[in-house]
Amino acid sequence: MKIGILAVQGDFAAHAAMLAGMGIETVEVRTPADLESCEGLILPGGESTTQLQFLQEEGLYEAIKKFATEDRAIFGTCAGAILLATEVKNPQQESLGLLDMTVLRNGYGRQVHSDVVSGPSTLKSEPMEMVFIRGPIFERIGPGIEVLAEYAGKPALVQKEHILAAAFHPELTNDTTVHQRFLELAGENSNRSALTR
Ligand code: GLN
Repeated sequence: MKIGILAVQGDFAAHAAMLAGMGIETVEVRTPADLESCEGLILPGGESTTQLQFLQEEGLYEAIKKFATEDRAIFGTCAGAILLATEVKNPQQESLGLLDMTVLRNGYGRQVHSDVVSGPSTLKSEPMEMVFIRGPIFERIGPGIEVLAEYAGKPALVQKEHILAAAFHPELTNDTTVHQRFLELAGENSNRSALTR
């Protein structure tokens, strides 16, 4: 299984390091062609405005939407989650619109330093460690979206089918739980494709 990581700007290298530690092959994605061999795609944290502009200029905006319609797995963290949402506020911004939720940019961790907190998660019995760096608040989530972790009474990690979004940065901790879930989603797709080959 190969996982693509959007490598325009932001903390793509931290995701690559975490997946390498889990024995997973990754590819840096900068063009639509880079996506072709990938079972899953990570949209990392960073600055969503810059990332969006790059996606639109390089043809990746449409390519990622197509990738999602093929049921391939996508995982957005922080700025990546902002790109996935259907509605982006504070300030308002366009997005890929692949996950029915309203997000407020610049929600958590307003300080220059990051906030390291923890919250309950359905993925593990202990509280999940969460690093917030000016992360989005998931203000509204649409029907059928599953909440996998919460912080301060709000969803912080959500999933709908093959799409996963975190307001925080699991790639900046030593906990592989969230990436493990993402790999399961990507693996389901590769099993499906193997069956239809
Ligand atoms: N608030 C940032 C944005 O709008 C996201 C911050 C982050 O990814 N750490 O892109």
